[in-house]
Amino acid sequence: MNEILQAVLDGADGAELGEVELPETYRAAFVSRDDVDMFKGVESSKKDPRRSLHVGQAPLPELAPDEAFVAVMASSINFNTVWSSIFEPLPTFGFLDRLGKESYWGARHALDRHVVGSDASGVVLRTGSMVRNWRPGDKVTVHCNYVDDQDPSAHDDSMLASNQRIWGFETNFGGLADIAVVKANQLMEKPRHLSWEEAAVNALCNSTAYRMLASRNGAPVTQGDRVLVWGASGGLGSFAVQYVLNGGGIPVAVVSSESKVRLLKAMGVEAVIDRASAGYKFWKDQHNQDEAEWRRFGKDVRALVGDDPDIVFEHPGRQTMGASVFACKRAGTVVTCAATSGYMIEYDNRHLWMKLKTIKGSHFANYREAWDANELVCEGKIVPPLSAVYELSDVGEAAYQVHRNLHEGKIGVLCLAPREGMGIEDQEMRERIGVDRITLFRRSGA
Ligand code: NAP
Repeated sequence: MNEILQAVLDGADGAELGEVELPETYRAAFVSRDDVDMFKGVESSKKDPRRSLHVGQAPLPELAPDEAFVAVMASSINFNTVWSSIFEPLPTFGFLDRLGKESYWGARHALDRHVVGSDASGVVLRTGSMVRNWRPGDKVTVHCNYVDDQDPSAHDDSMLASNQRIWGFETNFGGLADIAVVKANQLMEKPRHLSWEEAAVNALCNSTAYRMLASRNGAPVTQGDRVLVWGASGGLGSFAVQYVLNGGGIPVAVVSSESKVRLLKAMGVEAVIDRASAGYKFWKDQHNQDEAEWRRFGKDVRALVGDDPDIVFEHPGRQTMGASVFACKRAGTVVTCAATSGYMIEYDNRHLWMKLKTIKGSHFANYREAWDANELVCEGKIVPPLSAVYELSDVGEAAYQVHRNLHEGKIGVLCLAPREGMGIEDQEMRERIGVDRITLFRRSGA
């Protein structure tokens, strides 16, 4: 790996990089099939990724004709790595085994070590014989939509493909490693004004928020729309807020501390609710919700922005969905992509049908959406919410921070990059966009 790193740091050209010898094994973060029962009987919030996420050597697989090896300079923690590491809602080995049955190339994935991670920035090392648009030396970021382009169902909106998968979660050889194996149609250009770790934290959450709030496949924001964003300083929320502001909407941001309120205000959000100090208790007990609390919440939103939200950006799930459906405006849309606090959802259907509201499901993004979202990062219209950076050797601690909601925005992970701040190619553009904007979360220290 040293030779690869040196070649990248020396700015070796594509021909030189293509000649560098590839190792038989590479350093990677993985979960083990042997560990899937290690948290049996432990409450979800107490399951500790530091125990289940290992860093060690993994064998480098054979490269398929439509794939590329990427030297990963940096990656990021997504919540799906938390799910993999606590083996919830299911151990990911079932996904790998299913993929393993599909084809010769799929069989490589069905291993007892699952190399995780669904984001990466880095440099292309090798390309398979079918790859046309990318070559060794290209600086890239990687999105996580993994589709079989020979499947007809993948050819309208690829998120509707019958065997669509999330790379590094439902496939092996993910981004929290020194080398990643990706399909060529996961590659996108690296924003030249960002460091490796700033470039690595965007693709998954940015593309997801783009589909939910900017694409016609979600609930696109139009000028003047009021948009309620749960977890507005988190991974998804910190991108969602930027899309609402960019699209001429009015964000109502919900967070859970004073320091997060300050961060949102610094992003230009005027209406911010601190749910911790407001002390909403939407559930009276495990089985019953409290409509009076939904009402109090709705009233607080209206007091801030003058009306009910046209769109609710949902992902906490069970704890908030009742309040989201209630607070959403007549004929408005609750767009949801997750259920962090529980996926068995309960809401009062009268509020949905009588007021003609819609609940819209959304999941990651197709290549077009991911590409367009990445272009906005390349142009500086969307900035990375990078708040903390860990070494790959500390990946368990980084995932623990996300699992326990101790972080803000996104956590970056240095893989081959020896230190923070490397990989910036266009300093002039960085300054034009605003170093303060780009580093807001990193400097918040909250
Ligand atoms: P994150 O960085 O942990 O942010 C989530 C935020 O949600 C937290 O910062 C927290 O903010 C808020 N939150 C957590 N529990 C809550 C609760 N009970 N009530 C209200 N707010 C709560 O995670 P993320 O990256 O944004 O991901 C969020 C969820 O979306 C995860 O479940 C993830 O797996 C999923 N996801 C799905 C997709 C997809 O394509 N389907 C893509 C990305 C993520 P405050 O404490 O400040 O309120």
